[in-house]
Parts: sequence; structure tokens; C-alpha cells
Amino acid sequence: MSAANSDQLLNNVPLYPLRFKPIYKNYIWGGSRLRTLFGRQISEELDKAAESWEIADLPDDTSVISNGLLCGYSLREVLLLRSVELLGLSAGSVSRFPMMLKYLDAESTLSIQVHPDDVLAAEMQLGYSGKSEAWVVIDTKPEGVVWIGTKAEYSKEQLRQLILEGGIETVMRWIEVKCGDCFYIPPGMLHALGAGVMVAEIQQPSNTTFRVFDWNRVDRDGSPRQLHKHEAIRVLKPKNHINPVIPQKTDISICELLIVDPNFSLYRWEFDRPVVVEVGGVCSIWTVFSGAVRIGQETLNRGDSILIPATQKYIEWFPINTVILGEGVP
Ligand SMILES: [Zn+2]
Repeated sequence: MSAANSDQLLNNVPLYPLRFKPIYKNYIWGGSRLRTLFGRQISEELDKAAESWEIADLPDDTSVISNGLLCGYSLREVLLLRSVELLGLSAGSVSRFPMMLKYLDAESTLSIQVHPDDVLAAEMQLGYSGKSEAWVVIDTKPEGVVWIGTKAEYSKEQLRQLILEGGIETVMRWIEVKCGDCFYIPPGMLHALGAGVMVAEIQQPSNTTFRVFDWNRVDRDGSPRQLHKHEAIRVLKPKNHINPVIPQKTDISICELLIVDPNFSLYRWEFDRPVVVEVGGVCSIWTVFSGAVRIGQETLNRGDSILIPATQKYIEWFPINTVILGEGVP
């Protein structure tokens, strides 16, 4: 196909529900549940398949469409040429797709870390937005925990000392999790995903992580991972939130609201018979927390995700069994 032809296709095909090739990341804390729970075929080289980036548009990694006429084009290409059709009301002046969706499988505990807000991310010239994030627990070993915030109130100065001189892990608040729990981690909040916990994560499109403590762990060649204590102290906001979040009822009985962040809202849907959801004018991203569902020609199994462009007026879901879906809206 010539470049001119392909641009014509990209410019003219009516947008439709888009699926993407997952982008896998190998990190030392990763496990095997992307294979075992989701049945994904993942290259053997990724022996610690820690993350599956379902929908992402970062400078180095942009999702590639895997279904329909636009198969092979990237989310970035669609966004650049068709931003209003894709994003509708939230298109504004965005230069990147404003949300990111991942699954994380923590076989061992992640580093204690923190992310900057938009203002500090810009000041620090990180090349990304700030990062607000939310987790929904998909699977957990017995007594799995997450670490979010601190057990008591600490001043920024106290936390600074604990980070620089050691002991930050001793003041972190840990929360035992169960499947379906949702956690909210705004910028500036210290946090770590605990061993044995697998989550769906919805977040701002950023890959900036400042590590403050890595449990004295070393990688394959025996060296510790880099810490970013000074950057972390700069972006830290010593404030706790209610976690796990308390789901709120909506006007629709099968839908609850989990999170309203300035950058995204997160909903959870549960149903066992066909439903029509009106979505006109707003882009949304959806993922299957459990069960399976059909939409048009597509079947989505556990862990599968889809982007509904703002041009779509409604979605018709046909559940194969009881399905629980997460919906992110920018
Ligand atoms: Zn994080």
C-alpha cells in the first residue's frame, strides 16, 4: 500500500471500537498470571511479564491497532489526524491520548515509589504529564497487601528524613486486599503494589516513577535498581486518602462510580444480559475484569480491552457469562 493510499484510509475510515496489541514489560517483580489467568501467548524472553500495556500513547510506546481496517496503525497516528472524532468533548488541545490502561502482575513487592503532579512534571522537564493512578484488584494471593500512604500523619520533613536516612518502609500503611477492591493514588502519594497482587491500572499517560526504597533487592547482575530520593521528596505530598475507595451508586443500577480524578473517571459495570450503553460524544476505554463479552465482531475475554471513539453513540454489549467491566473516561 502506498503512503498516499494509507493516509487516505487513515483519514476516511469511520472510526469503530478499537482493539490494540498489548505491549509487555519485563520487570524483576513480574509473575506469570498474564499467561495463566489471561491465557496470553507471551514470548519466552519475557520471563517476568510484569505489565501489559493495553492502551498507551507515550513518546516511546504507542499502542498499535489490532482489529478492523485500521489494523497496524498506531493510536498516536489516529489521535494526530482524528482527535475530535476519537476524543470528542475532551479533545481540546491534547497532544497525546489522555489515559493509559495497564495490567500489573506483582510476584514480588514493587519498590516504594511516588509520581509527580502535572505542575512538577513540567517544572522538572520530565517529558511526560504528571501521574495520577487507580488500581482495581483482579487477583490476589491470600493476605496480599498494597502499601499506600503512611500509618499516621507525618510532616514532609519527617518523611524526608526517613527517605534519606532509611526506615520509610516502617511507617508505610499497608492494606489487605480482596478482588474488586479499588485504590486511588493521586500524585505525591507514596505507594507500592504488594507481592501476589494483580491489578488493572488506569492512569495519566506517564512513565515517571521516583523510587524511594526497593527492599534491598538486586537485579540479575547483582546491582540494586536506581533510587530517586531527592526527586521523590520534591514531589511528595504527605496526605492520606480513603482506601480502598467506596464505590458510589449511579443512575444506572449495573454501573458504579469508583473514582473521579481531574484527569479521568473510573466506573465499574456488572451484568449478565445484553445491555445498550449510551456513550455519545465521549471517548471511553473498557477492560474485562472478569467474565467475557461480545461487542460487534469482537469477543473480549478476561483482561481484554477496547477503546470506544467519541463518534460512537452507544455500545451494545452481549455478555457470554456474568461480566465485570471497567470503564475509564477522560
Ligand atoms: Zn505508581
